[in-house]
Amino acid sequence: MAVMAHDHSAHDRAHHIAEAERICAAASESLTPLRRRVLEILLDQTGPAKAYDLLHLLDTETTQAKPPTIYRALDFLVRMGLAHRIESLNAFVACDVGACARSTIFLICEKCGAAEEFDAGHALVDLADAAKRDGFAIKRTMIEASGLCATCQRAA
Ligand SMILES: [Zn+2]
Ligand SMILES: [Zn+2]
Repeated sequence: MAVMAHDHSAHDRAHHIAEAERICAAASESLTPLRRRVLEILLDQTGPAKAYDLLHLLDTETTQAKPPTIYRALDFLVRMGLAHRIESLNAFVACDVGACARSTIFLICEKCGAAEEFDAGHALVDLADAAKRDGFAIKRTMIEASGLCATCQRAA
């Protein structure tokens, strides 16, 4: 199972939600009760979670959550930078930084599945500049690096 990269205490979670409310309001979007609940569930996860598992968790609370509903909520959270979709794992994680809509780097352990998020703003400036010189305007960069985490290296 996935190992926790960072601990989300109740205080952290409340802070994350308050921040999410602020970000949505600033973008003239609404953090509906469902979107908010999906974000809360994501924050409670100890690692990347599949949409199906999130749906299952949501299902225990409400019978109205259908797959398209949770996919729409996840799409929204990803679009707002509040959550990330890790393609290689086909899973979702709450943004650890708060909301990094522009550039993200995940270090994903092949052995235990831990996914550690980097606040990659500066690391990717060069890439954005290079693309710009090529006439391309990058809106979002998502890099997934796979390897072995420190814990798994020690265990090996
Ligand atoms: Zn993030
Ligand atoms: Zn590992």
